[in-house]
Amino acid sequence: MFSWFYYLSGRTHVSITLLWMNYSRFISKQSSRRKPSCISELRRALENGSPSLVWLASGMPSPEKFPFREMTVTLEGGKQLTLSKEALSTGLQYGPSQGYPLLRKQLKRMVEQWHSPPRWAESDLLVTVGNQDGVSKALDMLLDPEDFIVVPDPCYSDFLCMLTALAPQIVAVGVDDEGIRPDILKSSLEKAISSGSTGIPKALYLVPNSCNPTGTNMSEERRQEIYAIAQQYDLIILEDDPYFFLQFNEKQLTSFLSMDVDGRVLRFDSFSKVISSGLRIGCVTGAPPLLQGITLHMQASCICPPMLSQVLIHELLTFWGDEGFKKHISDICQFYKDRRDAMIQALETHLNGICEWIVPEGGIFVWLKVLHLNDTSAMLLERAAKGDVVLVPGREFMVDSTKPCPYMRAAYSCATPEEMMKGMENLAKLIQKEIELQSTHK
Ligand code: PMP
Repeated sequence: MFSWFYYLSGRTHVSITLLWMNYSRFISKQSSRRKPSCISELRRALENGSPSLVWLASGMPSPEKFPFREMTVTLEGGKQLTLSKEALSTGLQYGPSQGYPLLRKQLKRMVEQWHSPPRWAESDLLVTVGNQDGVSKALDMLLDPEDFIVVPDPCYSDFLCMLTALAPQIVAVGVDDEGIRPDILKSSLEKAISSGSTGIPKALYLVPNSCNPTGTNMSEERRQEIYAIAQQYDLIILEDDPYFFLQFNEKQLTSFLSMDVDGRVLRFDSFSKVISSGLRIGCVTGAPPLLQGITLHMQASCICPPMLSQVLIHELLTFWGDEGFKKHISDICQFYKDRRDAMIQALETHLNGICEWIVPEGGIFVWLKVLHLNDTSAMLLERAAKGDVVLVPGREFMVDSTKPCPYMRAAYSCATPEEMMKGMENLAKLIQKEIELQSTHK
């Protein structure tokens, strides 16, 4: 049992008794030094205050001088969505660091509906500037230099960029086509602990659905096994799941948040792949003591997630309703499934015997292994664009990017089926040339 004091109103400290985990060992020194922004906390008075409240507190610009007077967007299908005067002025102004209250409420309902978290009553949700912002703030909250974090290898490249800056000890765990390998995870944790002048691993990062870069889904059994290991070794799980809604099979796999009886999961959702990546809206769900570090960071960095984007997404979700949202998801899944099929057809036409791949069951990536090259970096970075095709070299996703890597990542989200066919033909020629080039240099 752990008594956690955390800031709720800027004026009162509230003691919450948690019956799940002791979070004290997880919080980084940097995060524990964060203090609430007085201005952000005072803003709550504005949200809850009477219309006669005279606001002389923050540096909000006067809405009278914003050059926008109305906003109407035309949706797919022709329907027009016009923001009310009130919604537009909310969208143009600073807002709460935790997110636009109406959107937060809507997102909480969605998370409850999709994941039924076992400790839902004690959990909370914050809006973030996309998943990447949420994950990056979570890392800042958890990791001091030299702290241990466990990551799959290969791993989302931008996540590795965030990690490198924080200089933790990275425990890299190999994957197979069902996700991170539990046997390697256990032995790596044991090794890290026994070598342990620097302490016990704190967190485990995962992309369970349509993983970036491998395109694979973690199997149901694997999820249960990994959660049990996280319990045994007391790890926070960072569940980065931007491809959750882009699944091509009907059956929804259990999220880590859905199994989280302890409060050890921070789950990151994103609207980037399903509504718009430019609006930059995601959310993080988990235990309030962990979310608190993210809120304080938000107050001191972005102040709040983009308000106009939040208002727009709220209006859109309200207009769609649950059924409209599901229909939209089903439309985009069909679209990406067709693109996936076109990519597989292009691969089978041009790269059989040259590359190996696993057919993705969701998301937008296929991970290709080149059979007769031991590294793809020079080919893709120095020669591919001239050969009219661009892919990301596998090395960018490896924890140790100094070693040769025969993989590469292809995205099938934006190219048309014709472009994919041409691109794979170009890629086959590029690989053949590279093999010749390497054999002449031997
Ligand atoms: N995590 C993963 C695994 C991703 O693939 C991406 C997008 N490439 C992100 C996070 C970033 O998502 P967002 O646009 O929501 O910040």
